[in-house]
Amino acid sequence: MAEPGKVSMEKIVSLSQRRGFIFPSSEIYGGLQSCWDYGPLGVELKRNVKDAWWRSVVQERDDIAGLDASILMHPQTWAASGHLEGFADPLVECKSCHLRWRSDELKDRNCPECGGELTEPRLFNLMFKTFMGPLEEEANVVYLRPETAQGIFVNFQNVLNTTRKRLPFGIAQIGKAFRNEITTGNFIFRSREFEQMEIEYFVKPGTDEEWFNYWLEERRNWYANLGIKKENLRLREHSQEELAHYARVCYDIDYQFPIGWAELEGIANRGDFDLVQHTKYSGKSLEYFDEETKEHFLPYIIEPSAGVDRSVLAFLCDAYDEDIAEGELRVVLRLHPDLAPVKVAVLPLSRREKLAELAKEIYADLRQCWVVQYDDAQSIGRRYRRQDEIGTPFGITIDFQSLEDKQVTIRERDSLDQIRVPISELRTTLAAKLSGESLFVLPPGGSIWKQGENS
Ligand code: ATP
Repeated sequence: MAEPGKVSMEKIVSLSQRRGFIFPSSEIYGGLQSCWDYGPLGVELKRNVKDAWWRSVVQERDDIAGLDASILMHPQTWAASGHLEGFADPLVECKSCHLRWRSDELKDRNCPECGGELTEPRLFNLMFKTFMGPLEEEANVVYLRPETAQGIFVNFQNVLNTTRKRLPFGIAQIGKAFRNEITTGNFIFRSREFEQMEIEYFVKPGTDEEWFNYWLEERRNWYANLGIKKENLRLREHSQEELAHYARVCYDIDYQFPIGWAELEGIANRGDFDLVQHTKYSGKSLEYFDEETKEHFLPYIIEPSAGVDRSVLAFLCDAYDEDIAEGELRVVLRLHPDLAPVKVAVLPLSRREKLAELAKEIYADLRQCWVVQYDDAQSIGRRYRRQDEIGTPFGITIDFQSLEDKQVTIRERDSLDQIRVPISELRTTLAAKLSGESLFVLPPGGSIWKQGENS
């Protein structure tokens, strides 16, 4: 029998394709480099990640409002933000094989592919350019947004006026962003089209450091509370050289991917950079009026900026496990119940009419609450394996005894425990288990991080 092994990027890519989480974009044409399609299970997982984020930063809070701004924005936005000038990576090209590389990522001065000589670095703007309307001329140039943040800054006054929020308050947005990255790869870690989950949190200058620290803790807890192992998360402060032009301080929340530690989310103190710039370029005042002190001022901004796709990848890598279950090697995704694409599998032990009838009734009932799969093909062992591999937390088996005693068996993915419950109590039992009360919760009043841990 094969031995349980460790997670690797190959295993994640292979599982993703085999089970329908993630496919290469336009695969029948050979794929489009660094673009990916989320399949039937992937789309559920990704939606669950976004829903968990939205719930925690918008729904469960009084101080953050949501927004969905358009991808195409007035071109002046990108002049004001600094992206037209500064959003560029240094690019070198190999004189022999013509492959292009980011010079700041190269360890030596030759081409990593063929060892050939490289050109001098040139700055390469990462924004995708296109034209609005029928005429392809300079006056009609627009850009696909490289971040969702600017949509929030330009709506600052709109949200302020319509929600009557007072400082500190935030605006949150989930949406697509596009970057013509020079080097892509590592599956969905770095792609040219991706999704971001961003909060711009507006605070009174002078309180920014405190709020910055608050968001570091809050965001790191979010990943840990959704099951990411603490030892796979760390905080990393940006050095002065790598600090973006707009940032006063920036920390990355890094995850230990199979490719090594890499950024999952960036948290920056942007000061008043963005509101100053947009005031200057638009000519509109973006000041905040403090009723108490009767002062007008530009708030400072704390920005927790996360990638949806990178989070999906981190959740997949962290959940991936191999063990021996019921005497067989199994691949199991130990996804947090909130993230699991399918919450419950309904598995009748036989296709016989009476049993199938009861199983279908249970299926119809449970799917009113959750994403449920019905599977009656092949042996029960094979069916458990299939569900373990996609991270389904609970399997319900319906056997001939169920017809007599109106009870079914719930099998737990992680503990492999099996409990028998009356069908009439199935919904409430599953609801309690799926709410994950016993899982990954913060101890009362405390941080889950010990002093100095992973920072
Ligand atoms: P990197 O240094 O990895 O290029 P970045 O510092 O440019 O990332 P930010 O501008 O801080 O990234 O964007 C915020 C978040 O958006 C990142 O933490 C990441 O999760 C996500 N992100 C950025 N670029 C990409 C990309 N090309 N593909 C997938 N996700 C991305």
